[in-house]
Amino acid sequence: MSTVDSGNGPIVILLGPPGAGKGTQAKQLATRLGVPAISTGAIFRQNMADETELGQRAREYMDKGEFVPDSVTNPMITARLKAPDTANGCLLDGYPRTVDQARYLRSTLDSMGRKVALVIEIDADEDEVVSRLLKRAQQENRSDDTEPVIRHRMKVYREQTEPMATYYAENDQLAVVDGMGTVEDVWERIDQTLVHAGLVQP
Ligand code: AMP
Repeated sequence: MSTVDSGNGPIVILLGPPGAGKGTQAKQLATRLGVPAISTGAIFRQNMADETELGQRAREYMDKGEFVPDSVTNPMITARLKAPDTANGCLLDGYPRTVDQARYLRSTLDSMGRKVALVIEIDADEDEVVSRLLKRAQQENRSDDTEPVIRHRMKVYREQTEPMATYYAENDQLAVVDGMGTVEDVWERIDQTLVHAGLVQP
């Protein structure tokens, strides 16, 4: 597995279907690596709460379980990657999500003399994640957590994000982690993956 970065801190991508516990694991992962976590979904939700123009555009898509267009998402990520706090690496949660976004990310990082160190995919059973999401819908009242929207997000994940995992696998950058079990079980597997990739000490 390739773990080479350009001398800056590691850039790690966390992938997984909606409801696989990605948000929780992303926070721990960022802490363990000592880098900031960047979640495109969280940036969009913050903009929606602040009622910015970006938030209004994102809402049209998010509420249907569709991806926000690349013309909005890609420049937002580029700006974030140029911020000083990510010079020492970052954890990307929810970006890239398509092969096109992965290619865009690669060319952006190339121009900065940087590269992705590792992609971790949390692998989870579809029925299990749908039931987790329905539970979260009741607790958090998210407008994109109704059952039809959840099913649609799963389909979009299968059709668009899974091929992206293959793209990283072909580049020998992908590690797949079993997402079943408790949060602690999954974290243990992620931590071992980081150690194995040489990104942290045991
Ligand atoms: P998440 O919090 O990662 O589950 O993202 C919630 C929603 O935000 C997604 O269903 C999309 O509508 C939108 N979104 C988040 N990340 C991206 C991205 N990389 N590209 C396009 N849309 C995104």
